[in-house]
Amino acid sequence: MSAPIAIIGTGLAGLSAAQALHAAGLEVELFDKSRGSGGRMASKRSDAGSLDLGAQYFTARDRRFVEVVQHWQARGWVAEWDPELYQSNENGLSPSPDEQVRWVGTPRMSAISRALLGALPVHFSCRITEVFRGEQYWELQDTEGQSHGPFSSVIIATPAPQATGLLSAAPKLASAAASVIMEPTWAVALAFATALDTRVEGCFAQGSALDWVARNRSKPARDGSFDTWVLHASSSWSKQHLDLPKEAVIERLHGAFAELIGCPLPAPSISLAHRWLYARPASAHEWGALADADLGLYACGDWCLSGRVEGAWLSGQEAARRLLEHRQ
Ligand code: FAD
Ligand code: NAD
Repeated sequence: MSAPIAIIGTGLAGLSAAQALHAAGLEVELFDKSRGSGGRMASKRSDAGSLDLGAQYFTARDRRFVEVVQHWQARGWVAEWDPELYQSNENGLSPSPDEQVRWVGTPRMSAISRALLGALPVHFSCRITEVFRGEQYWELQDTEGQSHGPFSSVIIATPAPQATGLLSAAPKLASAAASVIMEPTWAVALAFATALDTRVEGCFAQGSALDWVARNRSKPARDGSFDTWVLHASSSWSKQHLDLPKEAVIERLHGAFAELIGCPLPAPSISLAHRWLYARPASAHEWGALADADLGLYACGDWCLSGRVEGAWLSGQEAARRLLEHRQ
């Protein structure tokens, strides 16, 4: 009997692994606790159009990822975003242009994961709580007490703190995942009925509650008539205000934005907040992916590499490569 491979997590790492295994002719089955794919590359639909609340853009530096992004561009899944970049620090706001190529999903960040998922079999709203091995095969258990399987191998492609418990069959892998500290980010989106009187389209901030501000509307192919903005609090502010109610987070970050942007700020027509509990690893690693190939258990995710979109994709490729290598 040839059992499929289970992949837990449909963020970019899980989808990257799924694509590589599917291309090699193997059967995969995906699981995600959310209602859709994309993980931290998700976008939220709102009355002001779609809003990229997580990853804002991505860069491609590794040759393999550069090639893949070119392929995505040819298919219309991504486009270059060339914002008017600024920086903000104790000296105020100033232009900060550079030559870096930055990519975004079109017409929203989550378009990439939708396209990569394609018709692969997936269970959404399915949070896996246990990964256990029978005599020959793996099985998964979800929060509803339902079992899934049998599977020949399992790839866990969740943030490290969520992977630790699922890796208990391989204590070395579990302890590596447990050593990864992931920091939170509070995100706030604001939509203004009239455009703000500023040229800023992206701004790296220091010495503020915020560390990044983006004019969502300036990204290619975005819908809606509102002037939409996404604000990201710094890790330290987010940690200090982890349990603040959303309304208070919106008020504080709106205040920090008003101070940073330096133009009159009307009341937003729409404002919302989202807390990313495991937004980014505190430091980068060079693991590629974690593997116990004899057991058939693997873990991947941005936390195995650079903590960026590119790292997530490369990590998924590495998990798939290790699995395929073991099967040869
Ligand atoms: P994720 O995208 O987190 O995917 C993991 C998936 O696993 C999720 O869909 C989750 O629902 C699912 N899951 C978790 N536990 C379970 C379970 N028990 N059962 C089933 N499913 C489960 N990167 C950049 O390169 N550029 C940026 O500008 C940028 N900005 C960012 C801003 C923010 C606010 C955040 C949060 C991240 C940002 N990043 C950025 C980082 C980037 O989003 C991540 O590196 C990348 O998306 C991680 O992909 P992943 O597949 O490793 O994990
Ligand atoms: P990048 O090269 O654009 O940015 C890397 C870092 O370099 C920036 O954070 C910024 O500090 C600095 N920088 C780059 N261009 C600048 C400019 N023109 N002016 C001033 N400073 C500039 O992109 P990357 O290396 O792909 O990094 C991805 C981005 O994603 C980073 O900004 C990172 O902070 C962000 N990120 C955020 C989270 C989160 O949870 N908020 C998680 C992961 C990554």
